[in-house]
Amino acid sequence: MNWVEKDLEYIWHPYTQHKTAKPPIVIVKGKGALLWDENGKEYIDAIASWWVNPFGHSNKYIADQIYKQLTSLEHVLLGGFTHPPAIMLAERLLSILPKNQSKVFFSDNGSTSVEVAIKAALQYFYNKNEKRTTIVAFEDAFHGDTFAAMAASGISFYTMAFQGMFIDVVRIPVPVPGKEAQSYETLEKVLTEHHCAAFIFEVLIQGAGGMKMYEPECLDKLIGICQKHQVLTIADEVMTGFGRTGKLFGCDYLKSQPDVLCLSKALTAGTIPMAITTFSKNVFDGFYSDDINKALFHGHTFTGNPTGCAAALASLDLLLSKDMQDNISRIHRSHLEFQRRFKSHPRVHTIRVRGVILALEVSSQQKESYYGNLRNNLYDFFLKNGVMLRPIGNIVYILPPYIISHEQLTTVYSTIERALEEVV
Ligand SMILES: *Cc1c(COP(=O)(O)O)cnc(C)c1O
Repeated sequence: MNWVEKDLEYIWHPYTQHKTAKPPIVIVKGKGALLWDENGKEYIDAIASWWVNPFGHSNKYIADQIYKQLTSLEHVLLGGFTHPPAIMLAERLLSILPKNQSKVFFSDNGSTSVEVAIKAALQYFYNKNEKRTTIVAFEDAFHGDTFAAMAASGISFYTMAFQGMFIDVVRIPVPVPGKEAQSYETLEKVLTEHHCAAFIFEVLIQGAGGMKMYEPECLDKLIGICQKHQVLTIADEVMTGFGRTGKLFGCDYLKSQPDVLCLSKALTAGTIPMAITTFSKNVFDGFYSDDINKALFHGHTFTGNPTGCAAALASLDLLLSKDMQDNISRIHRSHLEFQRRFKSHPRVHTIRVRGVILALEVSSQQKESYYGNLRNNLYDFFLKNGVMLRPIGNIVYILPPYIISHEQLTTVYSTIERALEEVV
């Protein structure tokens, strides 16, 4: 049996209807922004492998730091014990996050970072004997696939089978251009009518919801409304964190500061699964008590894994270097240039850019479903031409590793240009 046959025999893939899906592509090697399949075909990874990989595949610096950690301490439990990599990472992260963030809680993936944030927000009010059990979220949000994260997510066919089994979530419109007032008014109304504990939001860009973008001023306004009602704010920066928006964090565009922040994806540069939820002192103090029942009784076996922490520390070294910051600016400028050239293209409805993220909405007669025909044809065309792009419905987005070269990025643009002529 070859790899594909064995894969189909043994593996249940994520988000996959196995009866109708094409067989998976076997990738055997990665270097920089490139991936190679078992037949030697080369692909440009223009989506950082589901948004995790900012510094390229098989990055030697990060690999060396991980190896060093593995040969001195691979893991120790964080319950009752601690270790220098976790402490150094916490200190370093807090020094670059919004100033009010003061405690770091470790977990394993974006969904669990959100799960921890939502549980903490609900328990914060439980500890105070205040009945606040509703979570506010944006329409079309994506916060992950565990139960509370799924409840806060608005993408229906991901969550359809579980309707009626969720915690209480109320949705408000995203303040995209033209919908700002409606968004503010709905939030005011929801906070007045429900016992709300927290408002959770993707910062400035809704990733899986189709790379929808909105302005920092709008988020400041929504956070202000929450603060007036003493409702906690949870910034889900799982996708936007670590440079994606052009600043270190999406929250760096804001005047206000959220109470809680969720981080994962680029945190360990696509090496070791890890996530972090950070909290303001005010939230932490809501658990700090002589009463053991007020503790946050949440934890995962691999919490604060030293190897993951070493990977995250190495990632921060690279991210904060001048070279990498220059790369981020360079990609942003290229995106703006592409936007200028193509925004009036007859097959382009609109092009949005923030930081290293570019989203191109293809003009389409009917409303495209997430896995519709146009989407599948575009996806196949890109792969055939050696570019890994995964459109969301009729939205083609680029979210490249920061080390992508000018030539590689130009190839991505020209492949999209050809797709507009040949596929759409
Ligand atoms: C991907 C993502 C998550 C979930 O992260 P996983 O690691 O896939 O569990 C949560 N929030 C946002 C904004 C994401 O993009």
